Amino acid sequence: MASGKRDYYEVLGVSRDSSLSEIKKTYRKLARKYHPDVNNGDKGSEEKFKEISEAYAVLSNEEKRRQYDQFGFSRNLFENFDPNSVFSEFGFGDVFDAFFGSSFGGGFSARHRSGRQSRGSDINIDVTCTFKESAFGVKKEVEYLANDICEVCSGKGSADEKGTETCSVCRGTGQVRSTRQTFIGNIITTSTCKNCQGTGKIIKDPCKKCGGNGYYRKMKKVKVDIPAGIHDGDRLRVVGKGNSGGIRSTSGDLFITVRVNALHGFKRVGDDVISSVDISFAQAALGCKLVADTLDGEEEIIIKPGTQPGTKIILRSRGMVHLNGYRRGDHIIGVNVKIPTKLTHEEVELLKRFAEGREEITGDAASSFFSNVKNAFKK
Ligand SMILES: [Zn+2]
Ligand SMILES: [Zn+2]
Repeated sequence: MASGKRDYYEVLGVSRDSSLSEIKKTYRKLARKYHPDVNNGDKGSEEKFKEISEAYAVLSNEEKRRQYDQFGFSRNLFENFDPNSVFSEFGFGDVFDAFFGSSFGGGFSARHRSGRQSRGSDINIDVTCTFKESAFGVKKEVEYLANDICEVCSGKGSADEKGTETCSVCRGTGQVRSTRQTFIGNIITTSTCKNCQGTGKIIKDPCKKCGGNGYYRKMKKVKVDIPAGIHDGDRLRVVGKGNSGGIRSTSGDLFITVRVNALHGFKRVGDDVISSVDISFAQAALGCKLVADTLDGEEEIIIKPGTQPGTKIILRSRGMVHLNGYRRGDHIIGVNVKIPTKLTHEEVELLKRFAEGREEITGDAASSFFSNVKNAFKK
């Protein structure tokens, strides 16, 4: 490479035996002076900046410096050289704090990043399942709308093979600079190029199907495994099933919020299932057998003689499966004892005899109270 390159030591203005810290210090000083963002993108300083960065990249590397000292310029010294890689070692703020304080936004590395590297966005959807499905788990196929790679242009966005050209606004970098004048000097900020949306390329003949995006919205299907024991409002994540951001980016994720439909008469508390049964006071006193609905179907339960209102019948391990576990909670059945509000004459007589046998005072107080009220209205 007998190029017209200047000697690296000369470029940095350091002696051949200068130390690494000296080289570093000098480069820093020069970088501040020639960084393109300080010089409003002046072509001359950009070239200069590249030159000093290259010199620094070699001289700051022990191995490369020795090679250079011995052989001069050779190809393998800086293959694929990127001045940005050198500069990023110092950090953008490091150099610019000296000018503008630390409130400087953006960065050199961001400015030079070309193409859309972003990840597609995430998608949130809801899926509904029944109470029993939430107890035992269920597989569901859900449909949703998502940006997906265009099959017509294979995500390239162009209708034909050669159809792209470098963006003339940002010259392919995908970023544009704008200068603001402030009392402390010119502040240069970088932003995504609007002309090419940061891709650095302009599609001459956009794909008709996707309009040049490389992706479009379509209906997608995904099979979801809703695990046993899932709670209402729990979120499942399906990696990579969100929106596509184009061929050069990864897809976002799909988040599925599970909605568990209420089941009349059933309530979940932790991993337990709560329900209730109504029995009459005679059933409570004498005991009986009942059929109760459970997650596993109908089940016979026994009401013992003398069951009190509010008694809890516990069916062990008949509740919800603990999420990501095997153990099941209990099914707790609360017993409501219903007192009849309408009695036939015959029933009244029977109950009176029942009460008299137990020497309980009934009826009189109530009937005298009501007859008094009646009499009061008659007047
Ligand atoms: Zn397309
Ligand atoms: Zn552009």
